[in-house]
Amino acid sequence: METNVANGRKIGFFQTNGKPRHYADGAGIVIDRTKLGSEALQSLFEQRDGRSFQFTSDPDKQTPFHQLVGAQAGMLTTVVPVIPAMSVAGVVAALFDQSAPPDADAFAFMRDTADRLAVALANDERQRMLIRQAHFDGLTGLPNRELFRDRLNQELLRAPRENKSVALLYIDLDRFKHVNDSTGHTAGDKLLCVAAARILASVEASDTVARLGGDEFTVVLASARDTSAAARVAETILARLSQPFRFDGIEHFLTASIGIACAPGDGQSTEQLLKNADMAMYRAKSNGRGTYAFFEESMNKVATRRLQLESQLRRAIENDELQLYYQPQVHLATGRIVAAEALIRWQHPTLGLVPPGHFIPLAEDSGLILQIGDWVMHTALRQLAEWRAGDIPLSHVAVNVSTRQLRSAEFADRVLRALESCETPGQFIELEITESGLMENVEMTAQRLMRLRSRCVRIAIDDFGTGYSSLNYLRDLPFDALKIDRSFLKNIHSPEGAAITDAVIAMAHALGKQVVAEGVELPAQLNYLRAHRCDLAQGYHFARPVPAGEFATCYRNWHDGTRANVATSA
Ligand code: C2E
Ligand code: MG
Ligand code: MG
Repeated sequence: METNVANGRKIGFFQTNGKPRHYADGAGIVIDRTKLGSEALQSLFEQRDGRSFQFTSDPDKQTPFHQLVGAQAGMLTTVVPVIPAMSVAGVVAALFDQSAPPDADAFAFMRDTADRLAVALANDERQRMLIRQAHFDGLTGLPNRELFRDRLNQELLRAPRENKSVALLYIDLDRFKHVNDSTGHTAGDKLLCVAAARILASVEASDTVARLGGDEFTVVLASARDTSAAARVAETILARLSQPFRFDGIEHFLTASIGIACAPGDGQSTEQLLKNADMAMYRAKSNGRGTYAFFEESMNKVATRRLQLESQLRRAIENDELQLYYQPQVHLATGRIVAAEALIRWQHPTLGLVPPGHFIPLAEDSGLILQIGDWVMHTALRQLAEWRAGDIPLSHVAVNVSTRQLRSAEFADRVLRALESCETPGQFIELEITESGLMENVEMTAQRLMRLRSRCVRIAIDDFGTGYSSLNYLRDLPFDALKIDRSFLKNIHSPEGAAITDAVIAMAHALGKQVVAEGVELPAQLNYLRAHRCDLAQGYHFARPVPAGEFATCYRNWHDGTRANVATSA
């Protein structure tokens, strides 16, 4: 603030903490609160002349405090501390000409201002404390039942507008009473605090974790993507809570039971959702504790099935049940097989050959895709090296990369590691990235791909035409080939379908990229693509994806001119 006071030039409130903002004192004077940093505070105390807080600016000694208050040489600075509750919260400072020091009135005004500020600050703090007490749990600091209801209510109002669902998790610590009784309440309180922190660490910042009281917590998943996302959070919470709690040299073990209810299906009001999540929690308890249950019975079957499949997939990697099939890519101008796309399969012990569409989404959800992705790259590169060392000189092998892999900060490192461990130069691998994956975070993705491309790694945009690429981005993105989605080839006989395919080929060529057509099944499609100078093609017309051994046979037959291959495996 810049208020004239008595013969003082300036008066300001310099506060040791809190955000700088205007502060209206009782006399209607608006005072600027300025942050009094620790350096300035220290210099203030160093300059203090005995008990008095009056000092003159020395041109040679511009201390941080002088700078803060704007004191110039020869000015007299007068300081009065503001003490709302036994400790200094800041100071009121005023500048005077040395020739006209403050008189008794000026001092009185400053003291009065300091007192008013102290009262205002104390009120502020009291109010904040009341709000805290009314809305937050005193032990854990989490929102209490009231605030939780409020937040849930807000989410229930917001979700339908955004076409989203809301999931409510009701968490009850199993046998907490036993811990409390046997170890005492202090240990019980500590345990609740650690449990609260672990639950908090399992959710995203936009979710709400609350303590309803006792050993009961709730989580509102604001952006519940789907029910399996809610199950995933429940699993994470259970896993974290099952870790031993260590304090005072003793390990405590705890499990929890979680009930899940999802709006709108399981209720659209706070009450109903809470009641149903509570019921689901009791079901989890009766199922043997340490587990979660959905309110909707059918969801439990889906969740169990998914969980089963996920643990089987985890083992599939160790048990060598994953397999790569290869589909040839034919160079249309020469008719030669020049490359292959690796497509993953899961040889499941009881389900048989599982196609990627049935387990890749699960692998993405659980994060297993990172490990699977590494395995795919290593396996495909080793296979290519073997073929190239023999009589199958493919120019590269294409592998599919899921968005989840691309999102990982280590993505480029993982690719480079695979290349290094197989002693393969970058140009032998082509990463197929879907259009939607590329567009998710264009700048970051482009950077990662640029790094790989500087090592000659090839990049292809898969399923082109099914996402919503901005053509502007397409110009700037680092890629080598564009794979036209097979849905376009289906419509190639109609003038509109043909026009779109033409346009895509022309655009890719204008940008200097290769065009690969996917899903070529009919001779008419092949003729069309050839006539329109599409570069490469793959599809059942040439060959289905087959295991490596069959691919080699297919390749040899193809180039022998017999073409008796056209393998039939799926
Ligand atoms: P995609 O990369 O677009 O692969 C092409 C899919 O079309 C393959 O299905 C292939 O078998 C099939 N296909 C090839 N030619 C024809 C044809 O002429 N007609 C028809 N109707 N289909 C044809 P697949 O093997 O079931 O793979 C499905 C998707 O799963 C792939 O689509 C890819 O996105 C994903 N995928 C496959 N392997 C992997 C992998 O190792 N990692 C990741 N992240 N995703 C993979
Ligand atoms: Mg692909
Ligand atoms: Mg594709």
